[in-house]
Amino acid sequence: MNTNEVEMVECEFCGMSEECTPTYISGIKEFFCGKWVCGLCSEAVKELVKRTPALTMEEAMESHMALCRKFNSTTRLNPKLSLASTMKDIARKSSERRTSKDSHGSQISRTVSCGAVSDVKFKRSPIQ
Ligand SMILES: [Zn+2]
Repeated sequence: MNTNEVEMVECEFCGMSEECTPTYISGIKEFFCGKWVCGLCSEAVKELVKRTPALTMEEAMESHMALCRKFNSTTRLNPKLSLASTMKDIARKSSERRTSKDSHGSQISRTVSCGAVSDVKFKRSPIQ
């Protein structure tokens, strides 16, 4: 058994191919309900879940799948590139929003006492 062996896997959403180790692949598949999701799509799905805690992982994946389908059907020229740049854009925007929210949004999060936030972990920086 060679653990350095890589496999070619194709993203279930955008169709991008990546070479990854079987260990990494099985870890991702476990996290995303048995589907292989590329790095870019996994970030987009995780952002969706973070922004909408009521959303389950499966629902977030469905929502992201719809986004990818829309792009693939509307963007004829190099859809993968456009999709990739759009997702990067979404990720950047949402991380900017999160950063600004964290600086003065602690009051809001205190009122949230719902125990159903499941296993989504929010990284809170202790530095102000
Ligand atoms: Zn993808």
